[in-house]
Amino acid sequence: MIELLTIGDELLSGRTADTNASFIARALAEAGLSVRRFSSVGDCLEDIRRALSNLLPDTRFLIATGGLGPTDDDRTAQAAARTFGCELTVHEAAVKNMEARYREFGRTMPAAAKKQAVLPEGCQAIENPVGTACGFLIRSRGCQFMFLPGVPEEVHAMVTGFIVDHIRGECGMRQFILSATLKTFGLWESKIQELLNGCLPDLPSVSLGFYPAFPEVSLKITGTGTDEQQVKKQIQRFQEAIQKRIGEYIYSENNELMEEVVGRLLAAQTATIAVAESCTGGLITHRLTNVPGSSAYVERSFVVYSNRAKQELLAVPEAVLKEHGAVSEPVARLMAEGARKAAGTVYGLSVTGIAGPDGGTPEKPVGTVFIGIATPDTTVVKKIFYPGTREKVKMMTAQMALNMLRLVLLGKYA
Ligand code: ATP
Ligand code: MG
Repeated sequence: MIELLTIGDELLSGRTADTNASFIARALAEAGLSVRRFSSVGDCLEDIRRALSNLLPDTRFLIATGGLGPTDDDRTAQAAARTFGCELTVHEAAVKNMEARYREFGRTMPAAAKKQAVLPEGCQAIENPVGTACGFLIRSRGCQFMFLPGVPEEVHAMVTGFIVDHIRGECGMRQFILSATLKTFGLWESKIQELLNGCLPDLPSVSLGFYPAFPEVSLKITGTGTDEQQVKKQIQRFQEAIQKRIGEYIYSENNELMEEVVGRLLAAQTATIAVAESCTGGLITHRLTNVPGSSAYVERSFVVYSNRAKQELLAVPEAVLKEHGAVSEPVARLMAEGARKAAGTVYGLSVTGIAGPDGGTPEKPVGTVFIGIATPDTTVVKKIFYPGTREKVKMMTAQMALNMLRLVLLGKYA
């Protein structure tokens, strides 16, 4: 009874993957609603009109994305007007939405932008909390047609902010659906599944979803029921059972990113950090500084790719580099200590490794990485081995380094 229609030439040419369809389908599925059909058409008036006219027999909701922009190749509103036999007029609610967004961006609204507020007469505007183009809803022939912009962030905001609840309300679904997300690192999906087998409470109204996104896995517990407190309690029981079994691998129960957790811990200690990155080329610092407020604890970083840089900026002695090689325990240790000293910070974090595809040796194959953390009391170094593509080695190294830092900050690093 729900259909999705994604609109845009870029979808048909394969230039853009249709992530809107998968996002919407997933959001609906998590809310207990299922989609009957996906289809896509280009930015062609007649094709859009036909797609809107040829629904499956029981379709009561159609959600369309794309083609609401101000440029001439965006034709969805026009196609909708033609399909439903109405005029296009300036919609006041849509103008207000646009003016509000322009005000937030600190800009004045250009006249050409008004095209986005020209919508089929009699439609209901759907507020867009993050962009200028409003969506709109039209009821016709026993179906509700909901049109959203194409930009994925706007689709996400409007689907979670309006569409899901609206459809559930229209279908008379009064159940509560609540969820909790546990973010794990250090175990692959299959291993988590194996460890949890037989450990979870038998609650038919609670389900567990696995969402792997390299290099980590999120676990989403979803519970449904008519009594909100009861659903909360059941989710809590599930969460406790998972904690008990794989708690040491769970780094956040609040859907935080690893760098946010680390940042929160550093800020709580009012501690500062300096990072010395070789094989990650700045990735760790990029992640740390993605977090708003990170200037409170990130003092500076050194991207020390060459041996000369390690010597000049971190005072790693040439003799140590020669004797042990740049990818070694002593060099990682001296890099972490050197960064801490040079920057005058509480902590120093270093990574040095072989990202490949060349440069590996039998003793130090591609994927060999050393991570060092210097603290006021001691320096710890860990050797890791993760063979993979260059990009994956970098991603895994950054994640491992941040996780190791997290454990050190929590006093749990053994
Ligand atoms: P605007 O023109 O104001 O940006 P719009 O409603 O006209 O918005 P489009 O022009 O169709 O939207 O698409 C905007 C952006 O969103 C483009 O970068 C496009 O590639 C992307 N996009 C459109 N449809 C999808 C989709 N189904 N999945 C993922 N990305 C999409
Ligand atoms: Mg488009």
